[in-house]
Amino acid sequence: MNSAPRGKLIVISGPSGVGKGTVIKRLFELMPERLVPSVSATTRPPRPGEVDGVDYHFLTPEEFERRQRAGDFIESFQVYGHWYGTLESEVRPSLEQGKWVILEVDVQGAEAVRERFPDALRIFIMPPSLEELERRLRLRGSEDETQIRARLDVARREMEQADRFDVQIVNNDVEQAARQIRDLLERAAA
Ligand code: 5GP
Repeated sequence: MNSAPRGKLIVISGPSGVGKGTVIKRLFELMPERLVPSVSATTRPPRPGEVDGVDYHFLTPEEFERRQRAGDFIESFQVYGHWYGTLESEVRPSLEQGKWVILEVDVQGAEAVRERFPDALRIFIMPPSLEELERRLRLRGSEDETQIRARLDVARREMEQADRFDVQIVNNDVEQAARQIRDLLERAAA
């Protein structure tokens, strides 16, 4: 259990609406052989088009709590009123196979992962500005006004933590941001 894993853990974080999901999707296209995703568990209901087991493992609050008690999570936190967590079973087996596992977590999750996996590479994706982040959140259309305000407040606080990460990438352009991360990972492997 505590033997040094051969793979690499890459933690990607950043404020809600910054475009982490899109950048990560492109990163997988750029490095399909090397990377595997860790599918998080959540109690949030699926958005239209989201698939159970692909986007998230959608769990009931009872099931989530049962798995927390069973010690199945590397980290779990409440984000915007719902639980989110990284399952150990999504991470360890891939690391032991020498894969590079991509975790997309909030800032609290990234901090908790660092305690368990001090060698993890932690990347923070920044918006070009808070105004742009607000525009993107509105464009996505999945949150109401109160939720958008809450996400912007959290985003402000999260951005103050950006320098605790190993690398900061500004998402001005998805292709550019994904390539920057790919180059970084290739350098880390060299
Ligand atoms: P969304 O509901 O928009 O998919 O995600 C909301 C927030 O939860 C995002 O900031 C996302 O990075 C974060 N998140 C997703 N999965 C996890 C996880 O497993 N752990 C933690 N701590 N945060 C997560």
